[in-house]
Amino acid sequence: MNRIAVYPGSFDPITKGHIDVIERAAVLFERVYVAVVRNPAKSAAFTVAERSEMIRRSIPHLKNVKVESFDGLLTNYVKKKRSCAIIRGLRAVSDFDYEFQMALTNRKMYPKAETIFLMTDARYSYLNSGLVRQIAKLGGDVRELVPPYVAKRLENSRQRRVRLRRKGL
Ligand code: ADP
Repeated sequence: MNRIAVYPGSFDPITKGHIDVIERAAVLFERVYVAVVRNPAKSAAFTVAERSEMIRRSIPHLKNVKVESFDGLLTNYVKKKRSCAIIRGLRAVSDFDYEFQMALTNRKMYPKAETIFLMTDARYSYLNSGLVRQIAKLGGDVRELVPPYVAKRLENSRQRRVRLRRKGL
């Protein structure tokens, strides 16, 4: 099997923690698919197209990484991509229970792919997309937490919200 990996997630939006994981995976694998989950049941701040665009603009330096989206079972997508690995990032022990359960479930569904956990740089180990959205919403500076294009998008969203509030909408 080829050395192809899939890195699935919501990426709502992508943070420097995600990018750190993608950069590590890109060294280990010939090709990495960053796969944005299409999940109509889970409400997201950004659309799948917006999230994909933010990822693409954040990793122009990684030539062996492709951004796609998928719905349905992750293992079906992994199989379709002829991938031998599912990448997940680990931040703290709090991630472990859920990730352990998912990894074993995915192995049951498709034993040919291994889930591989990559540890982010310690600088980003507290970071998650929800936190970033909250800081940005309250007018905080997120430039150290997300790539420049994402920071711009978050600031635009905040300004749009302020304008709507002023109009009483
Ligand atoms: P999901 O909704 O699948 O958890 P996320 O976009 O939140 O999607 O995360 C995708 C993957 O990236 C998960 O494995 C998550 O643990 C990991 N991840 C998220 N933020 C970080 C970070 N700051 N450092 C390392 N891994 C991270």
